[in-house]
Amino acid sequence: MKYAEVSVNSPIAQRRTFSYAIPPHLDIKVGQAVWAPFGERTLQGIVMALTPYPAVTETRDIIDVIEPHPLLSPAQVDLARWISEYYLSPLFDAVALMLPPGFERKTLTFISAVPTPDGQKISSLPTPQRQLFELLKKQSQINLKELEKKLGEKKAQTTVSQLVRQGLAVRKYELEPIRIRPKTMPFLHLNVPAIDAPKISAELKKQRALKQASLIDFLCERAEPVPWSEAKQKLGVSRAIADALARRKYITFKEIEVRREPISRQYIAPSPPPRLTRAQENAFSRISKAINDKRTRPDIFLLHGVTGSGKTEIYLQALAETVKAGRRGIVLVPEIALTPQTIERFVSRFPQRVAVLHSRLSPGEQYDEWRRIRDGDFDVVIGPRSALFAPQPDLGLIVLDEEHEWTYKQENPPRYHARSAAVKLAELTGAVVILGSATPDVGTYFRAQEGACELLRLPERVVPVENAPMPRVDIVDMRDELKSGNRSIFSRALSQGITQAVNGGEQVILFLNRRGGATFIQCRHCGFVLRCRRCEIPLTHHYAEDMLVCHQCNHKTVVPDRCPQCSSRQMKYLGLGTQKLEQEISYAMPRARLLRWDSDMTRSRESHDKILRQFRNHEADILIGTQMVAKGLDLPRVTLVGVVSADTSLNLPDFRAGERAFQLLSQVAGRAGRGPLGGHVIIQTFSPDYYAIQAAASHDYLAFYEKEIDYRRQLNNPPFCRLALLTCSHSNDAACQREAEKMRNVLALERDARGVSNLSLIGPTPAFIHRLRGRYRWQLIMRGAELSSFLSQITLPQSWTVDIDPVSLL
Ligand code: ADP
Ligand code: ZN
Ligand code: ZN
Repeated sequence: MKYAEVSVNSPIAQRRTFSYAIPPHLDIKVGQAVWAPFGERTLQGIVMALTPYPAVTETRDIIDVIEPHPLLSPAQVDLARWISEYYLSPLFDAVALMLPPGFERKTLTFISAVPTPDGQKISSLPTPQRQLFELLKKQSQINLKELEKKLGEKKAQTTVSQLVRQGLAVRKYELEPIRIRPKTMPFLHLNVPAIDAPKISAELKKQRALKQASLIDFLCERAEPVPWSEAKQKLGVSRAIADALARRKYITFKEIEVRREPISRQYIAPSPPPRLTRAQENAFSRISKAINDKRTRPDIFLLHGVTGSGKTEIYLQALAETVKAGRRGIVLVPEIALTPQTIERFVSRFPQRVAVLHSRLSPGEQYDEWRRIRDGDFDVVIGPRSALFAPQPDLGLIVLDEEHEWTYKQENPPRYHARSAAVKLAELTGAVVILGSATPDVGTYFRAQEGACELLRLPERVVPVENAPMPRVDIVDMRDELKSGNRSIFSRALSQGITQAVNGGEQVILFLNRRGGATFIQCRHCGFVLRCRRCEIPLTHHYAEDMLVCHQCNHKTVVPDRCPQCSSRQMKYLGLGTQKLEQEISYAMPRARLLRWDSDMTRSRESHDKILRQFRNHEADILIGTQMVAKGLDLPRVTLVGVVSADTSLNLPDFRAGERAFQLLSQVAGRAGRGPLGGHVIIQTFSPDYYAIQAAASHDYLAFYEKEIDYRRQLNNPPFCRLALLTCSHSNDAACQREAEKMRNVLALERDARGVSNLSLIGPTPAFIHRLRGRYRWQLIMRGAELSSFLSQITLPQSWTVDIDPVSLL
């Protein structure tokens, strides 16, 4: 007898596996999906390990396999285990990351009669059971749901159970099929014979209906129905033009069902790789050596280069090298950067060999894609964070572009970080990892300094030409503007710059990070920001008690009526939204065409792409946006980028605020000057001397890093320790605080009892978002080294969540 340790799909299971016996007729492998009995129910489970002995004395048998192929590779099984243990998440949640999309569907139960029943047993059955048996015999199988409808739920279930117990019927389980809604699109049909078309077209031209004529010509040329969207795009005709032709009965619109062809399968002309520049060649040779060298140790590279320095080109060539070596790659990009432009770049290098995973695919498409990836159809899988778990066989390379991005951390359980998970997966598969960024995460850079990964640099931009200069960045001191009587939100330099650019037919991006709002208090006279004396983070104003509170240590102070530094009374709560900004700019420049881009505007992915397209097509002069505008856009006509207020992101009560501000400002600054027109950046701030602003303005990552790592060391923040963020939520504020205090005591006692020395507890403090969906939130921060293993031995009540290595303490 063999046994299997199974992760079952039940909230009760938590981080455990359960032991089951494997009946001799089943061939079960690690990673296989099975049906497992669990109490009264039958659950989906994944086999995590095979063992000669069970972990408990009494075991039940696995019922059946769900799919003949194992769904997880052995490396994925280990990765799931690691995620569950490290991030303290339920094991099945971690397993589910790697299952085919839609796997957790409803289970359908089917009942059928056994083929050769014992005749005597049947004749002695009570009537309801005999009737059911006769019914079953007539059909190959019956859905339990149908029986329940017919007989009533209770009666159906007991009668079936009795038949099964006597060996006269069997239950079988299947997953509910995935429903795929067919997609239709309007197509244009030419209604007249092709030989008449030129005549009609000539007639239209005579009437000066040139656009209508061009549409007729186009349809005639193609000789088959054409998608309206394509005609519209290729000819630039409006719906009114097509409707006019439809009214004349020359054409008709017809809805036709289309197959959803992912963009990656569409025809995109192949493009040969360019010759690498010397800096690229240096970096690439190191990576290529690692790819071709079969050492088992993982090789992790940090590729540090500004936007436009040619990082993506290195990813492409590293992928090609991996494919040459008989292996495959996964490329992770922030969801927002997964644009058609990005995808095309990969597809043109690996035609028909790229799978793109993203949330806009329908469940059916996601499932198809998953299966084709598993079957080895693709050399490259590209997608956001979750694409790391694609079943890519022979994994040889994992790329994380923009590795510093916070979106690589999942906000809900399992709260994994894709970078850490990628490094783990590489360790398990022998894959090479490339982490790319213009502004590496301070922790990643620190590990490179320590030798845990290898730093590769691309110091120069290759666009628009090799060694292209970085855009000029000017810092405008808003205190001076106030002093000279300018109370507008635009400095004189910025408004001049905007006017000049717009009049010259160039484009402008205005950036304003809305997050933060009035979360800090600043003196408008000298720029001083009120901060906690112990933690250095800005103090937050609590309206109810009218107190200033440190969200890290809960230290409270009264609101001073004068600036502690210069005694001015101009202490202001700062906050300005993008909508207000739009209004202001439309007053200041009534003729400029504006586009606003923020999360209010871009609920759906389509509108996001649309705004970008409009701006790229120069349908607007000024794009106003939140941090979204900072990410990965390539807009050659943009010559001026204005940061309306750098202070909103600086002054968040989080020790990573400086890093965050630096990253954002650097990215925003990188938006300018991508084209031949060059570019210019203006940063408006009340804290012009702040190190993160200074460093971003001089494009000096190292200057920023040196300062930042020093602060981290002094205050013992990551990467010098690890953090865990424990959040308690409760409908009652006082009760929530009490529970948090209780937990703190429990943790402190446990720490002392176990003699763990380097573990400290901070808080409880009210969470930055103190009240969320009607519930109050208090948090505890743990600082130490081995937080997961310490916490794994403590049972946290339902009201708590744990976030290991949180990317934000807000
Ligand atoms: P990054 O990913 O660092 O922003 P990219 O790889 O996108 O940089 O390179 C920026 C631009 O330069 C792209 O248009 C790319 O095609 C081009 N490019 C990159 N490397 C080379 C090269 N060796 N020769 C010519 N053009 C290159
Ligand atoms: Zn002051
Ligand atoms: Zn404090």
